[in-house]
Amino acid sequence: GCGICVKKCPFEAIQILNLPTNLQSHVTHRYNANAFKLHRLPTPRPGQVLGLVGTNGIGKSTALKVLSGKLKPNLGRYDDPPEWQEILKYFRGSELQNFFTKVLEDDIKAVTKPQYVDQIPRSIKVPNMTVGKMFDRQSELPNRKQLEQDLELTHLQEREVGQLSGGELQRFAIAIAGVRAADIYMFDEPSSYLDIRQRIAAAKVIRGLVTPTNYVIVVEHDLATLDYLSDFICVLYGVPGTYGVVTMPYSVREGINIFLDGMIPTENLRFRDESLTFKIAETVDETIAPKMKSYHYPDMTKTLGGFKLTVKKGSFSDSEIVVLLGENGMGKTTLVQLLGGKMDPDDIKDKIELRVSMKPQTISPKFPGSVRMLLLKRIKAMFMHPQFNSDVIKPMNLEPIMDQDVQTLSGGELQRVAICLVLGVPADVLLIDEPSAYLDSEQRILASKVIKKFVMGSKRTAFIVEHDFIMATYLADRVILFEGTPGKESVANKPEGLLTGMNKFLKSLDITFRRDPTNFRPRINKMDSLKDKEQKSAGSYFFVD
Ligand code: ADP
Ligand code: ADP
Ligand code: MG
Ligand code: MG
Repeated sequence: GCGICVKKCPFEAIQILNLPTNLQSHVTHRYNANAFKLHRLPTPRPGQVLGLVGTNGIGKSTALKVLSGKLKPNLGRYDDPPEWQEILKYFRGSELQNFFTKVLEDDIKAVTKPQYVDQIPRSIKVPNMTVGKMFDRQSELPNRKQLEQDLELTHLQEREVGQLSGGELQRFAIAIAGVRAADIYMFDEPSSYLDIRQRIAAAKVIRGLVTPTNYVIVVEHDLATLDYLSDFICVLYGVPGTYGVVTMPYSVREGINIFLDGMIPTENLRFRDESLTFKIAETVDETIAPKMKSYHYPDMTKTLGGFKLTVKKGSFSDSEIVVLLGENGMGKTTLVQLLGGKMDPDDIKDKIELRVSMKPQTISPKFPGSVRMLLLKRIKAMFMHPQFNSDVIKPMNLEPIMDQDVQTLSGGELQRVAICLVLGVPADVLLIDEPSAYLDSEQRILASKVIKKFVMGSKRTAFIVEHDFIMATYLADRVILFEGTPGKESVANKPEGLLTGMNKFLKSLDITFRRDPTNFRPRINKMDSLKDKEQKSAGSYFFVD
């Protein structure tokens, strides 16, 4: 069986993918005729964190709405929705029966941290609502002070909610959900806008909400954060916007490996052609790709209002990726601007002159035309090149949005276009600021592979700012560490090896990584676990072999 249905599934999942006519089976909800269908449901367990992973438009938020009781599942009968009694009967014998009985008896209170935190200020009706006043109203548990401290909100009490930055709003939204007394807590994409240290802090807060009897469900695209957060995982696959299928629950390790591999072994089903494995850069055979060029940049400083960045001089070569690692407000974007010559250093004679192509952190579309027109205008030569098409345009999945107006694209679509543009502009050095923002975990995997392959194949250098652990370690040959105080002063160290650099970075965060034996992906050790303690005392924060 599929783990949820009482009887054995009449249709194997492999048929579901190949034969859309068989999609009548196990429909939990269908929005409308010819609208999105969700097949099966994830089953939450009391006292454990359930993690959901899957591409955008595959039904994760829909599943959350059903489980929270906000959306009554119609079992596919959008024109003739069943009553609760019938719904309960449908789930009889499965773990979900008990769950929905509680939902039905209104015995259960669900609190959701919404996916789109940017919309929170607009949803607050009271004028001039401050962070502190919102906590006064919402707090039901005695954990307010602790959560404010853990999520760095203490200094923002007087701030109006409408004036919070993306990262502040995200931390605020997580805390506001956490101070409520609920039976089900749902966190829809809690890591967006957060830096690595804040992601760990948010994960700890969310795990801290678990009691033996409540339910916690998290949708998350940062796979290392999801791994750290969850006790078990359901993967969602299918055709985005058309239908999504929820897998049976897997252990965290197995679930994430299945997602990365693109293959569900128990159902003998491949849902993605690409799989992703990780290696450490030190093991790359240098003789295969001899480095031809070398570049240097000088010691520099840059003062911006009350912030001062000191850059230690460094050098780099072609065919390598340098990842910039540091908290928000440490000057990563400032260094990117300096390397790109978009900003002058304090001493103008230090100005860097490189042939660069840049993807800024924030992409605001002003182009009046379609994606195709934009690509033809900005990167015509590459766009016409068959290899660029097969190596970049195709895997970044631009074909479906090619004739859409640039100004109507979603955040994730815009990001995919921006990544193609930065790779397509002729340059020696690519500067890519936060490519994973707005991308789902699947798109992050594909984008990482595309960028890595392109940089190596075209013998370029890339400097990349990235907060997603999995992407950062996959991409990085070397790293630049930022040390100091966010928003005040910071030092950008010279580029160093991935192992030593990551080791220092993780030490500063007080976390350790181990390596998955199957695909070598980094996994965060649980705090104070045996491995965590062993690695800390040995000083091996990043992988021990
Ligand atoms: P995810 O959270 O995995 O990105 P969602 O559950 O938000 O996906 O959406 C899955 C699909 O259902 C999308 O194609 C979305 O457009 C569609 N959808 C969501 N809500 C509605 C609705 N109220 N009516 C019709 N379609 C909807
Ligand atoms: P990061 O990319 O690491 O988050 P940034 O380079 O964007 O950091 O910013 C570093 C610091 O410099 C932040 O505190 C930011 O507020 C400040 N800053 C950036 N640009 C300006 C500016 N034009 N004027 C004053 N301060 C600025
Ligand atoms: Mg969603
Ligand atoms: Mg930045």
